[in-house]
Amino acid sequence: MLSGSEGLSSPSKEAYSALTMSVPIHDFAFSLTAANDDEDLRVQLIKYFKTDELSAPGKSELVDATSDVMTLVIQQARSLYVCEPERLVGAISASSTANALAVWSRTRLDWIVISEGLMELLRDAADDMGRRFVKAFPELVDSQIWQCLQGKPPLKGGFQTTLGSLLYFAAITFFAGHEAGHHLDGHDGYFVKGSHAEAPNDPPDQSVAPRLTDQALEREADWIGLTICRISMIKLLSNLWEVREFNEAERQSYQRSIAALLCAGAMMAVMKITPSEIDWTEIPGRSHPPAVVRILNLATTLSRAIKENFGDLDDVSRRWIRLMCMEVAVGATIKPGTDVDRVYQERIARGGEPAAIRAVGIRKAIHDPQLAQYNEALSTSLQGIKPLLRPRKRV
Ligand SMILES: [Zn+2]
Repeated sequence: MLSGSEGLSSPSKEAYSALTMSVPIHDFAFSLTAANDDEDLRVQLIKYFKTDELSAPGKSELVDATSDVMTLVIQQARSLYVCEPERLVGAISASSTANALAVWSRTRLDWIVISEGLMELLRDAADDMGRRFVKAFPELVDSQIWQCLQGKPPLKGGFQTTLGSLLYFAAITFFAGHEAGHHLDGHDGYFVKGSHAEAPNDPPDQSVAPRLTDQALEREADWIGLTICRISMIKLLSNLWEVREFNEAERQSYQRSIAALLCAGAMMAVMKITPSEIDWTEIPGRSHPPAVVRILNLATTLSRAIKENFGDLDDVSRRWIRLMCMEVAVGATIKPGTDVDRVYQERIARGGEPAAIRAVGIRKAIHDPQLAQYNEALSTSLQGIKPLLRPRKRV
């Protein structure tokens, strides 16, 4: 179990079983054998990664740590299956291409695939994100409760800091939870070619009919991904911080810390979906909502989750955490020397409100009347497709 004295180690099988008593335990080695025998999975791996090579536990510390985190996500998602929870399984592609897939196989297995390329992208961003996080929340990291965290070794896998490894943990639970969301909501009823990829091969195509349905399903999967990410972070941090009876101030500090880590970790998804100003004319042909919209929807959902689950935080704290986590994550995507960077630096020099979210167009999008219309169109589109879906969870 993740006791404070053990540091930031991975959860044991006993811990999983205690968490989800009646849910069969996911075993990566067993899934690897099933993966190697699964012809439908192989076809999709080749399609998106140009290789069907999978990474076995023991290959590297990063693979080991990530497979443990994925198993934690799979256990939680399995507990939501109405029947046959063992259908949900995970695999790691050895590809250096950053991508994540949901694959539906005729063997009736629901695959979550994450590539080493994606893991490395997030791992390499994590320590920088941690440094930005410390700058954004100085009062938080000076608090007594954080002192406890400073002494823990990072999760294995090449992290310089414990904070960076925690952010990585949150980001992977969000990505894997998002793929689990596609399965739980039964999106195979729509993705009839047997897979869905976060980074599709096809460029945006303006000649096809609007792909609002694809984008609506993405938003649904994000919502489930965030829930799974939140539960995973609470489980991990409660153990690291050896939760006991806190006084009021400690409780607030604890809740702020979890909320901020959860928010910043899930927001690391922007490292893959680099946001830039919305071009509404490009939207119809895309498989995913524009990154800026996705981040705003993520921020809104996170904020709602924080309100519901962290009763000691007032609205001002909640809004501040949401704003600063967006700023931290988006700031990390801005490449030095680009036009966006020039705007970013200019705004930093001017001071005042967060510069990164202005520079990439998030601030503008918040006030764009087309955003509300777009979100409504997604909801309408989702209603239209619902009869085709095959949800695994209770609806
Ligand atoms: Zn997706």
